[in-house]
Amino acid sequence: MPATAATTAASTARPVTVIGLGPMGQAMVRTFLDRGHEVTVWNRTPSRAEPLVEQGAVLAANVKDALRANELVVLSLTDYDAMYAILDPAADALAGRVVVNLSSDTPEKTREGARWLAGHGATMLTGGVASSPSGIGDTENMNTFYSGPSAAFERHRDTLGVLTRPDYLGEEPGLAALMYQLGMGMFWTSMLSMLQSVALADAHGLKAADILDHARATLGSLESFTAFYAERIDAGNHEGDVDRLAMGVASTEHVLHTMADAGVDTTLPSTVVELFRRGMAAGHAADSFSSLLEVLKADRPAA
Ligand code: NDP
Repeated sequence: MPATAATTAASTARPVTVIGLGPMGQAMVRTFLDRGHEVTVWNRTPSRAEPLVEQGAVLAANVKDALRANELVVLSLTDYDAMYAILDPAADALAGRVVVNLSSDTPEKTREGARWLAGHGATMLTGGVASSPSGIGDTENMNTFYSGPSAAFERHRDTLGVLTRPDYLGEEPGLAALMYQLGMGMFWTSMLSMLQSVALADAHGLKAADILDHARATLGSLESFTAFYAERIDAGNHEGDVDRLAMGVASTEHVLHTMADAGVDTTLPSTVVELFRRGMAAGHAADSFSSLLEVLKADRPAA
């Protein structure tokens, strides 16, 4: 019988263990199964594995069995503390495993994690998944940052590439976490700003749908502003030729007062105004708002 694309993929696909079956881990397991990988799973709450077992995954009886099943072990957990909670009692089954930790945490936590796993004879790759669960399997548009030993990454690049497009950043384990967290810093703050405006709209009898076009246009415009200011920032140019911080203070105060008048929470707009005022106090009134970067850098501990 001639090999079909599916049977060829299945015969070359490496088996993988996935530990952690929240929305993200479940999406990963489903994608691996769809692409012909044998998948062993384990989760603290075993019932979450049931739909995946129906689709062909194998539920390991315990963590050690899950680790022993495959060289490649993907973790999709809330944080690195969850990794220790799960793997520490099973540490003698870690030797020889390549543990791809796709859980979010700080760069420092990932470095500690890599050292801890190396101490048990395992290799860790850090991953930062820049996709929601629904984007897992979209290898054209979604990416994951990886860092850690290049030999381990190259060995498993094709398997990891089933989930999203892999972007390898280098050997240092914290790099992928750093890239992930700086993206999340922008994501959460931007999405919170959207909720803030929806709260204001709601106070005036408007629904999210009523402001959707305006919200999309405003947030979409950030793409060109980002490129414009990034170039000037790297050139050390905070010239006030396009915008002046003094204008920015007035503008952010108008936002704050509009929120306060509507009776919605003002924590976020107050913080924005406070940062702009600190820039004014530091003498940047005639500079661009990008000069606030100097205010933001000021809390950095001395090197
Ligand atoms: P969840 O927090 O919903 O699920 C996390 C998993 O961690 C569950 O399997 C949970 O087990 C397990 N877990 C948490 N604490 C412990 C513990 N102490 N001991 C044992 N198991 C534990 O996360 P998601 O699935 O949404 O995401 C997984 C990772 O991917 C996170 O780090 C997240 O930041 C990241 N991510 C998520 C995105 C998303 O949109 N969901 C987008 C990009 C990245 P149990 O089922 O028993 O509770």
